[in-house]
Amino acid sequence: MRRIALLILSLLAFLARSAAAQTGASPALERLKWRDDDAQAHEVAGKILTEADDGGLLLIGQDGRLWTIDKPQLVSRDDAREPFRPLPHAALAKQLQAELGREFDTVVTKHYVICTSARRGYAQWCGALFERLYLSFHNYWKQRGMKLVEPEFPLVALVFATEKEFAAFATKDAGADVASAKGYYSIGTNRMVLYDLTSSDATPIGDASDINRQVSAVPYNIATVIHEATHQIAFNSGMHTRYADNPLWLVEGMAMYFETPDLSSKTGWKTAGAVNDERLGQFRNFLSAGRRKPDSLKTLLSSDARFNEAEAAADAYAEAWALSFYLIRSKKEAYVKYLNALSSKPRLVIDTPEERLAEFRAAFGDDLQQLETDMLKAMRRLK
Ligand SMILES: [Zn+2]
Repeated sequence: MRRIALLILSLLAFLARSAAAQTGASPALERLKWRDDDAQAHEVAGKILTEADDGGLLLIGQDGRLWTIDKPQLVSRDDAREPFRPLPHAALAKQLQAELGREFDTVVTKHYVICTSARRGYAQWCGALFERLYLSFHNYWKQRGMKLVEPEFPLVALVFATEKEFAAFATKDAGADVASAKGYYSIGTNRMVLYDLTSSDATPIGDASDINRQVSAVPYNIATVIHEATHQIAFNSGMHTRYADNPLWLVEGMAMYFETPDLSSKTGWKTAGAVNDERLGQFRNFLSAGRRKPDSLKTLLSSDARFNEAEAAADAYAEAWALSFYLIRSKKEAYVKYLNALSSKPRLVIDTPEERLAEFRAAFGDDLQQLETDMLKAMRRLK
């Protein structure tokens, strides 16, 4: 969950150095070599999405990974004389195995490539779970008039056998603060990184219903996995644009709206949009304990800052869930209009707090006070 905030912060740093300007996406495949700030050499074939005025580049690889390259880091840039094509599932599976090692197995489903050091049965269970979520997410928004697209790249999940292996990888990949999470989605790499939630369980792994039972035994275990999978689907369906200025309350609210698990159904996801007891409880506590300030809605809408403050983050998430739940249920058309406006935002352009507020008002009207009153009333009524 916090990875997104971290990426947006690192994105700001990139912008500050490069004052990016948008150029249209180029369909040509190019081969780039560069050295990053740690002097590590990279060679990636991909397409350039954005070229900054100062020569900084935003590159997307054939695996869907995004790279930002400053001009002084660039060693060479050559036209590969062929069009850009995303890697097909099988080729991507091979590339992941080469990267992670021979002890990693791959499980391929319609939309996913899962590379795993966990037991194959667990990776297959993950694949089935993700596909059900994928289908229900697309259906849910299609029914509400939001046009979504199939992902350009296969969706990658790395599933480690143990928490310890996960923590070691996560620390290198995303920083020490995600190592204690149950998993994360990285906007930069476009990958989910997870581990076998049943690995510490003494009973041998059985079929899918055994795994359902085992992962459900620990509260909030499975919700995190679903939360991260929702982020990945939303960023790969045309709903959010990676490296665009997506308000964090919206991105997190979307993931929390879907995170209530539904393991009982084999084909559907009946709990999409169910009342999220955990988040509702936190929000009510936020109110009753007097921590919620009068300008709370405004600060949530205009900046991501509260999500990055250790003490305020849980309340910010809870308020983002409450606001999203209220808007999706009570202002459906305006919410879809707002989603559509956000989905067409350019990459690498950061809005000011005023611009964020103006965009929100353009969809939901000027009277924030009334909207807040109605939202609070709705939250009080929920059971
Ligand atoms: Zn999140």
